[in-house]
Amino acid sequence: MNKDGKMLKVVLFTGYACNNNCVFCIDADKRALPEKTTGQLLKEVLKAKHKGAYILEIIGGEATIRPDFIRIVAAAKKLGIPQVTCATNGRVFADPAAAKKIMASGIDSVIFSVHGPDAATHDALTRAPGSFAQLKKGMRNLRALGFGRISGNTTVVRQNMAALPRLAEFYIKNRVPNVEYIFVDPNYGGARNDFKALVPRISKAAPYMRRALALGCRAGLDQWKVRYVPLCHFKDCLGQISEINERELFLTEHWAPDFKNADAIGSRAAVGRRKTARCRGCRLFSACEGIWVEYLKNFGDSELKAVK
Ligand code: SF4
Repeated sequence: MNKDGKMLKVVLFTGYACNNNCVFCIDADKRALPEKTTGQLLKEVLKAKHKGAYILEIIGGEATIRPDFIRIVAAAKKLGIPQVTCATNGRVFADPAAAKKIMASGIDSVIFSVHGPDAATHDALTRAPGSFAQLKKGMRNLRALGFGRISGNTTVVRQNMAALPRLAEFYIKNRVPNVEYIFVDPNYGGARNDFKALVPRISKAAPYMRRALALGCRAGLDQWKVRYVPLCHFKDCLGQISEINERELFLTEHWAPDFKNADAIGSRAAVGRRKTARCRGCRLFSACEGIWVEYLKNFGDSELKAVK
């Protein structure tokens, strides 16, 4: 815990190489950057331990495709970092031997990125035919090994927003207790490059996101959350907003190959997102981060409505 009583979460980026090619990927323009070396990553794991990290989240690109992935996780666990997790497209876990080895490394939880309830939707977004089938097999393999700490995240774009209720059923069927429905970030990468094709109006996406949350609650999965949303579209779900929750619990640092951010939560609110004159007098003003700056440039702020 730091002096404010928050837990330190270090997000360790291994590099930007990936076996998928998601249309909305925030790292779409960074693929050619060099990957971190094993030595670099081991040093950073040690540094995270010395800084008192409670959570180490290992991400890419796709970190699980690295031959040293297991070594990095095992090193973090050996040092005693309490929670070591990874965000993944899940494809590597389709190989039972790989799933077994990763589980044996001591990883505490795995966050699967699922972008549609079926292969047609998911694979069209990942631009990797077969990726949905591999992801499902990966989840099954982990379950068969007795590994149940599986979470989910979904990037919400025009192409999948109407499918969110069906995706919620997928998560329910697969007993995924923690899911985040993430409104696409158009400030960087694929969604910035192809804004019109990918970014939905928040007023169109929000009802599907709320419906997905409601389906989760009905199934007893009330820990599901939405992320990167203006609160006026979620005023009846304030207990299920990732940003509010994480601000209370975590200080989050991002350690990437090309940048370091010692306060990823604070800088996102200060630089990446914005409230506007329409927010004046809103009772949710202090809790709300507004909406993405790039969204405002393209769509304006007419959908924001001060909550009285
Ligand atoms: S009106 Fe502005 S401050 Fe209020 S909830 Fe909407 S975006 Fe947030």
